[in-house]
Amino acid sequence: MFDQKTELFELTTKQVYFFDLDGTIYLGNKLFQGVYDIIDLLKKKKRYFFFLSNNSSKSTTDYLKKLNYFNLKITRENLILSQHPTIDYLKKNHYKKVFLLGTQSLKNEFENEGFELNEEDPEILVLAFDQELTFERLKKAAYLLQKEDFPYIATHLDNRCPTEQGYIPDAGGIAALLYKATEKIPIVLGKPNKEMLLFKLNQLNISPKDAVIFGDRLYTDIKMGKEAGVTTTCVLSGETNIEMIKNSNYRPDFILNGIWELLEEFYKL
Ligand SMILES: [Mg+2]
Repeated sequence: MFDQKTELFELTTKQVYFFDLDGTIYLGNKLFQGVYDIIDLLKKKKRYFFFLSNNSSKSTTDYLKKLNYFNLKITRENLILSQHPTIDYLKKNHYKKVFLLGTQSLKNEFENEGFELNEEDPEILVLAFDQELTFERLKKAAYLLQKEDFPYIATHLDNRCPTEQGYIPDAGGIAALLYKATEKIPIVLGKPNKEMLLFKLNQLNISPKDAVIFGDRLYTDIKMGKEAGVTTTCVLSGETNIEMIKNSNYRPDFILNGIWELLEEFYKL
């Protein structure tokens, strides 16, 4: 089932490369071997590449600063955060006045994108990873959701976020508080919604079969890739091992020990 020696060549033929970050490109403060060379190589070969994160607690500008810690030399064009498909959705559906449960950093990005942040008379509630949440704002959000069919979306619904001291509640935890009061569930635009990949492929006018995703989580990265119709590669450098793959409904097309094995495949050409 996992005899893939000859087929790995396929991974060098794609037009678009999507990479999860944590567990795939780095783990904590440690960047995996080969990452700089892969980026250089994809640039030289004029392939598109994007790094993905559900974390919407920071604006794209601030997230790039975080990535600069690793000296990755990538630009905002190479980054897909869960607020990007969310903003795409809001624009496509002509929403202007937004109640954003989000940090000041994220609010800045929404304002730069032309949205009016409005807590009194909004057209839609957008839930993000609001690390500056107050009970007052939670109350306002709960009141809104009790209006019939009030539009409600979320950048992502990860339950918890790992930090150095332990887990903290993520956007899914905040959504759970609102659910207890209102029984409303938001539409999710980030992982594992395939829109996180498809909105970008649509912008580029490239077919999903010409794209590949590398990720370490079966129930987000691999699930999303399969549903979007892109080639899926699970790396074993994060939270997944071979046993988990055998027992999962989300079987990747390829398995690599880590991202460095993609580089080795390119070197064989
Ligand atoms: Mg990951």
